[in-house]
Amino acid sequence: MTLHIPFDNSYAALPDTFYARVKPEPVKAPSLIAINEHLARDLGIDGLDDPNLAALFAGNTIPEGASPLAQLYAGHQFGQYNPQLGDGRAILLGETIGADGIRRDIQLKGSGRTPFSHMGDGRAWLGPVLREYVVSEAMHALGVPTTRALAAVRTGEVVVRERPLPGAVLTRVAQSHLRVGTFQVFAARGDIKALQTLFEYAVARHYPDATDPAAFLDAVMRRQAALVAHWMSLGFIHGVMNTDNCSISGETIDYGPCAFMDSYHPETVYSSIDRYGRYSYSAQADIIVWNMAQLATALLQLMPDPEASVEAFTAQIHRMPDMIRAEWLRRFAAKIGIETPTPEDAPLIAELLTLMQTAEADFTNTFRGLVDGTARAAFADPSGFDTWAAKWQTRIACEDDPEGRMSAANPVLIPRNHQIEAMIAASVAGDDSLFARLMSAYAAPYATNPDFDDLRSPPAPEEVVQATFCGT
Ligand code: AMP
Ligand code: MG
Repeated sequence: MTLHIPFDNSYAALPDTFYARVKPEPVKAPSLIAINEHLARDLGIDGLDDPNLAALFAGNTIPEGASPLAQLYAGHQFGQYNPQLGDGRAILLGETIGADGIRRDIQLKGSGRTPFSHMGDGRAWLGPVLREYVVSEAMHALGVPTTRALAAVRTGEVVVRERPLPGAVLTRVAQSHLRVGTFQVFAARGDIKALQTLFEYAVARHYPDATDPAAFLDAVMRRQAALVAHWMSLGFIHGVMNTDNCSISGETIDYGPCAFMDSYHPETVYSSIDRYGRYSYSAQADIIVWNMAQLATALLQLMPDPEASVEAFTAQIHRMPDMIRAEWLRRFAAKIGIETPTPEDAPLIAELLTLMQTAEADFTNTFRGLVDGTARAAFADPSGFDTWAAKWQTRIACEDDPEGRMSAANPVLIPRNHQIEAMIAASVAGDDSLFARLMSAYAAPYATNPDFDDLRSPPAPEEVVQATFCGT
């Protein structure tokens, strides 16, 4: 059979100021690492037995119906505005409408140079491709809105980073690749016509009920508030929350130096480029408000009198911290078995987190241990935990099925950094069995499976990953 992707492209019909039409650059010797058959089926893709699959997902063969293009966007990187970023190593093939009626982008990442590549080579090496594949699929299994991984191929070429490394291409699926930075680029250029077109496109695609910029902003803020609280409830640190890595759809996007925290500390940073902790674990709740303020600034330009709307937009942004606190409380309350939290539950959660911080307790295992009965063991001196647990037991006595709620909110498995690093090292050496094993394990992260018990262990001291790198 021949691979068939039922393309239905809308972005390519937008004005040509929105993108550059560019084809992927063929690679030397593509070979398939993985294809996500479930996802392919949900997207209406068939012909997965096509012998040419590797060439298709490497960009050597353009599937019928694709309109390859690189999207333009800008963005604040670590607070600094960069007026032109864009897809420098990614190419949108087109869109499909899945079985659920949702339109999704199919994008190749690492597929060669585009007019937005600047000094970059347009390529990706195997490590970040497999990291994004595994972590994005794990996030999906954990229930977090995220881009998905459809395929990964080796290119048979070498890319030079700190050292020569095997090249790879990831095929990524997203509800769209519209970013805060997509709005910023047109607002900064004063191209109000393009900004209006983009606004209408984004409304139609993501928020059909939001008829004006304020309602649209509110809808994006709500999704982002829920997303960041969800990340935090799982110990996830995105690592590069630049406005160009912040999606309008509210999906987790652009997995770079992301990481799940092992032992709990609110200021945890893994990313080697995040020197001042701008995107640390707990800072995520503040920085998302800053990012939404940048979206608000861009959207202001759509108002008949932008000056006159500043106050209302500012007030709207000031409401976001409360939204995040409410989402945070809901998520963390569920982690300790509470269905409908009251403000008095916040100190109870905070108290446990403080005990965990002092004890350097493993975030994932301590919370799961509340259901499994092993949490106490995380504390060298359990007296503080015992006092807390007595209060906690009293609080949840009136809850209906707190165990069930906790089992659904506290995963057994998360993609731990040392496991990801070991998997990448094995695949670089040509052995993808660890990749396959992690993919099966993380597909059911809330289930207890003796086959994967070893993956519950935090890193041994010599395994601890101190820093993660973009290194794409
Ligand atoms: P990101 O790390 O995804 O936030 O990327 C920031 C910007 O750098 C985007 O415009 C990317 O397209 C661009 N970029 C990152 N890596 C490369 C590369 N290897 N070649 C070309 N552009 C790149
Ligand atoms: Mg990016």
